[in-house]
Amino acid sequence: MRRYLVCHLSSACAGLVSEGACRASLPVLVTVTDAATPDVVAGLDALRREVGACTRCPLHETRTQAVSGEGDPGARLMFVGEAPGYHEDKQGRPFVGAAGKTLDELLASIGFAREQVFIANVLKCRPPGNRDPRPDEIAACRPYLEAQVALIRPVVICSLGNFATKLLSGDQSGITKVHGAPQIREVGGHRFHLYPIFHPAAALYTPAMLETLRADMYRLPQLLTEPLPQPAAGPASEDDSRPPVDGHADPAGRAPRSAGRTEAPPSAGGPVGRDASVAAVFPNAGAPTAVGAVSAEEDQLGLF
Ligand code: SF4
Repeated sequence: MRRYLVCHLSSACAGLVSEGACRASLPVLVTVTDAATPDVVAGLDALRREVGACTRCPLHETRTQAVSGEGDPGARLMFVGEAPGYHEDKQGRPFVGAAGKTLDELLASIGFAREQVFIANVLKCRPPGNRDPRPDEIAACRPYLEAQVALIRPVVICSLGNFATKLLSGDQSGITKVHGAPQIREVGGHRFHLYPIFHPAAALYTPAMLETLRADMYRLPQLLTEPLPQPAAGPASEDDSRPPVDGHADPAGRAPRSAGRTEAPPSAGGPVGRDASVAAVFPNAGAPTAVGAVSAEEDQLGLF
C-alpha cells in the first residue's frame, strides 16, 4: 500500500509529497493502492484471457491483439479511455503511444506512477483506422469494462474523453461541459466517483489543452479522499473483502462489490453518429448537449 499526503497549505510542491516527507501540520493521507485479494488477481487474469480470445464483435477480425488493460489490481484510481490505437494494438498494452506518454506525464505531475493505477478502454480492440466505436461494438465489449470495475472497485474512475465519459455517466453531456467536475456513478454494482477529463490526445492537437488537463489532474488526489454516499438500500455483501485503510473505516466509503450488472439493450432512434454509439448502449441517457466552440477536426477525434 502506498500513500501520499495532500497538502492544503502550499502549492509549491504541487500539493503532493511522499508520506513522511511533508513538514506541514495539516496533511491528509491519500491511499493510492490496496493489496488486491487473490480472487481479484485471478479474476482479472481470467478476464484478460477471455478478452484475448473474444469474437463478440467484428473488431476481432482486424485487431493484431486485444488490449484488456493493465495496472495495479488494487488500484483506487482507474482510467478509462476510448479504444486501443495503432501502438496499443501492436503491443497489447493501453496508452503506450504519444497520448500514453502525456498520460504518464500527467500522472507524474501529481506524484503517481502508471503502475499504481489501472488503465483500460471502452473497447478492447482497435477500430480500423482509429474510427469511432460503433454502438454494436460498445454493447458487445461493455461487459468486460463492467467486470473490471466490479473486480477492482476503484474509488475514482477518471474517464478520458467523450466516449468513456458518456458511457460511464449514462449522460450525453460532452466532455467540454463536464470535465473537472466529479459525479457519483455506479457500474457493475460498484459506486464510485466519476471524474471526466479530456483525452490526453487532445493535448497533442491543442497544446493549450495541456494546462486544462494538468489543472483537472491536480484535483484527483483530493478526490481519492472524499467519501461516497452509500446506496439507499442493501446490506454489505459478504464478498466485500477489500480491507479498510489501516484497520479503520474506508475513508472513501466504497460500496461493497456486487455481481449485479446493469444491462441495457440498444435503443432504436435517438441521436446519430458518435452520440448514437453511447446513447444506444445507455438508452436512458439524456439528449445530446452542446459542447461549445470546438473545431470539426477536434470533434472528429472523439476527444471533446
Ligand atoms: S472489441 Fe471487445 S467485444 Fe469486440 S472483439 Fe474485441 S474484446 Fe470482443
